Amino acid sequence: MTYDMNYTEPANPLERFYEYIGQLFTEEDAVMQHIQAENIRQDIPPISIKYYDGYLLQWLMRMINARTVIEIGTLGGYSGIWMARALPEDGKLITLELQPRHAEVAQANFEYADVADKVEIKTGMAIKTLQTLNAEADGPFDMVFIDADKISYPQYLEWAAEHLRVGGMIAAHNSYRRGRVLEPEEADDHELIKFHQMIADDPRLDGIIIPLGDGMTVAIKRS
Ligand code: SAH
Ligand code: MG
Repeated sequence: MTYDMNYTEPANPLERFYEYIGQLFTEEDAVMQHIQAENIRQDIPPISIKYYDGYLLQWLMRMINARTVIEIGTLGGYSGIWMARALPEDGKLITLELQPRHAEVAQANFEYADVADKVEIKTGMAIKTLQTLNAEADGPFDMVFIDADKISYPQYLEWAAEHLRVGGMIAAHNSYRRGRVLEPEEADDHELIKFHQMIADDPRLDGIIIPLGDGMTVAIKRS
């Protein structure tokens, strides 16, 4: 997969409200700022979550006492550090990444942020890696954060619904795909729409979209 390194997001008139929320409840500290600068220096695509999304993920984790979290889509580790910081002492984040170079940069960033002892990166196609994860041995899983290839979101959802504990949570980034969820253009958009419909239709799941940033889809596994 290739990314346009010169891509900049179109201005979103709601951004100042997201900043208001972010500045009110959290801050991007010097470590996190260093990670973002390092990712730019390392040519990691600038597509991580924002600091206010990081805070939202922490808030969701604390709501459900998340101890074991799976992340699909590590990139440079920015979201992973936010989540690792909200884990209890004995907590664990297993994060899945296709690109070895992203995994390498992320590993160094986890070490810099002093969370490496709680984080394990597994490199490869996430669908393949998920099949090797066993809820008994590695879990029970409290939360799955989905933020990789949108075309696979339905498959990630199926895995998560099967492997989460009751009361566990699915969070998925880019619910809106910058508007394309309402005006689909490509296969990824259609699979994202399908992902949302699957949550809505699944009697085990209670879904919602939290309209912060590019949107965070959240579902609780109720049975
Ligand atoms: N969660 C990160 C951003 C992830 S960007 C953050 O906010 O900091 C999406 C990542 O998913 C990229 O690093 C990309 O290489 C990875 N990815 C794409 N397809 C994948 C797949 N099939 N399996 C695993 N990782 C994949
Ligand atoms: Mg994303």
